[in-house]
Amino acid sequence: MTDKNYFQPVSGFVLPRFAGVASFMRLPVVTPEDPRLEQVQVGLIGAPWDGGTTNRPGPRHGPRALRDASTMIRAQHGITGIRPFEVLNCADLGDVAPNPASVDDSLRRFQAYYSSVRAAGIIPLTAGGDHLCTLPILRALAQDRPLGMILFDSHTDLFHSYFGGQMYTHGTPFRRAVEEGLLDPARVCMIGIRGTAYDSEDRDFARASGIRIIPIEEFHTRPPADVMEEARGIVGTGPTYVSYDIDFVDPAFAPGTGTPEVGGPTSWTALEVARLLAGVDIVGADLVEVSPPFDPTGATAYLGASLMFELLCAITQSPGLRR
Ligand code: MN
Ligand code: MN
Repeated sequence: MTDKNYFQPVSGFVLPRFAGVASFMRLPVVTPEDPRLEQVQVGLIGAPWDGGTTNRPGPRHGPRALRDASTMIRAQHGITGIRPFEVLNCADLGDVAPNPASVDDSLRRFQAYYSSVRAAGIIPLTAGGDHLCTLPILRALAQDRPLGMILFDSHTDLFHSYFGGQMYTHGTPFRRAVEEGLLDPARVCMIGIRGTAYDSEDRDFARASGIRIIPIEEFHTRPPADVMEEARGIVGTGPTYVSYDIDFVDPAFAPGTGTPEVGGPTSWTALEVARLLAGVDIVGADLVEVSPPFDPTGATAYLGASLMFELLCAITQSPGLRR
C-alpha cells in the first residue's frame, strides 16, 4: 500500500516556501526507523563531508545550503511539465554521518549507509560534499557489476594520488573506481574538462583505459543535444551513475565551489545537459562540490538545487526503474 499523498512536497499555498523546516524540495523526512522507508523510490540524501578536499574547503556545508535553496523548487518542471513527485515516491532521507576526523572511517560509513539504501531498493540522489563522496557510493551501488558513468566536471578526478601517495582525495575517486572494477571505463564519459593542470597523467590514464573525455574546447563547438546523444550512446542501456560536479558550470554562475575553472557553460546549458539524460538507466546520481563559504549570494546553491531537480526528473524517465 503506497501512500502517494504522504510523499508530496509541502505546497507553498499551504505553508509559504520561506517557512517551515527546510527538507530537500520540501519533501517529508523519512528516517531509517520509519516504516514508510519501504515505500521510498528515490532518496534525497545529504553527504556533509569534505575530507577529500585539497584546496579551498567548505562542501561539508553543502547539504544545508542546498536544502535551504531547494525550498524554491516547485513541483512541476518549467519546460517538460514533468511532475516527478507524482511519478515516484521521493523523500529526504537525512544525512549520511561522516567522521570529520577520519577519511578511512568516513569512507566505511558512507559505503555501509549506501549499501543499506541500495538493499532497500532506493535510488540515491545525493547532495555533497566533495567529490570523494562519490567513491563509497559507487562501492555500494556497484557491488555485483560495474556501472557506466556520465560525469559533468571541469576535472577528470582520475589522478593516481596527491601529496606523496595520498590515494583518497577529491581528485582521485574515479581512478580508484576504475581500479576497483566499480566503473566500466568503456561506458564512462567525462564532459567539460578544462583548466590548468599539473600534468597529463589523468588524461593519459583515461586514454589507456578507454574513458571518453569531451573537453571544453570540443563541448563549446557542439550542440548540447549532440554531446548528450554521444554520452547516452557510450553508457548504453546498462546501469549508469550520474555525477555532477558544480564546477562544471562557469564560475560566473557558480562561484561557490572549491576548484573553479573559467570558460565553462552557462546555467542554461548546465540545466539542458542534465535534462538530456532522459532515457539513461540511472541507478544513482549526485550533485557535489557546492561550497557555501564561497557562495555569499546563495546563487551556487540555488543552481545546485535546480540541477538536483533536473536529475530527479531524469531519474523518473529511467527505463530500469522498479515501479
Ligand atoms: Mn570533481
Ligand atoms: Mn571539479
